[in-house]
Parts: sequence; structure tokens; C-alpha cells
Amino acid sequence: MNMKSEKEIRETEKVRQIGEELEPVFVDDILMSLKYYVDEEQAHLKIKDSEACKTCVGRGCLYFCPVGVYSLQADGTIQVGYQSCIECGSCRIRCEKDNIEWKNPRGGFGVAYKFG
Ligand code: SF4
Ligand code: SF4
Repeated sequence: MNMKSEKEIRETEKVRQIGEELEPVFVDDILMSLKYYVDEEQAHLKIKDSEACKTCVGRGCLYFCPVGVYSLQADGTIQVGYQSCIECGSCRIRCEKDNIEWKNPRGGFGVAYKFG
């Protein structure tokens, strides 16, 4: 049996206390505070080979994108709603077929975060 050491128990308790002291954060509220400057002429994301998505087993893009940019079409291809992208970068590394072309939006476009 894997028993926790006293040090681990103290650290877990400390993390729990910190968690209780923090104000709750609601992701939807944060998303609502973002500003998008959508580039209507040039998408910064695209699927390199739509046919490859049809044979993709995990279709991770449907799950790892926090804002649901990727959606499955009836023919097995993936539609990319790049306008909602918050530029987290997950799809640069998580597509199992390295099938997503990702670049930063052009200057003046993309998502704007505000702090505080
Ligand atoms: S994870 Fe990559 S290859 Fe698989 S369906 Fe999504 S975009 Fe296509
Ligand atoms: S960069 Fe992040 S938010 Fe944008 S499409 Fe990829 S996973 Fe979704």
C-alpha cells in the first residue's frame, strides 16, 4: 500500500488551504472578457490534409481545444472555426497526425486578453 509521508500530507493540506482562500474562477466569465480581432481574409489555423482526419482514431482536436474550435462533419472531416481560437497552442502539439497548420495571427488580429 502506498502511504503518504508526513511531508506529502502537510503539502496537500497547504494546497487545500490555498484553494479555499482563492476567489473562485469561472472560465466562461474569462472567455466573455476576451476581445477578438478576427482576420476575415486569412485563417491562422487550418487542417493540412482533410482526408487524414477521416482515419484519425482519437480525434483529439474535438477534446483538447478549450473553446471547441474543431467540429466533426458528417463526412468525417473536421471543420475549423478559427475565429474563436484563444491561441493556447494546444493543437500545435496534440494533433496525433501533426495535421494542423498553426501560425500566429497577422499583426492587429487575434485574441486580446485583459488582466485584472
Ligand atoms: S486530431 Fe488531427 S488528424 Fe485527428 S481529426 Fe483532429 S485534426 Fe484531424
Ligand atoms: S490554439 Fe488552442 S484555442 Fe486555438 S484552436 Fe488550438 S487548441 Fe483551440
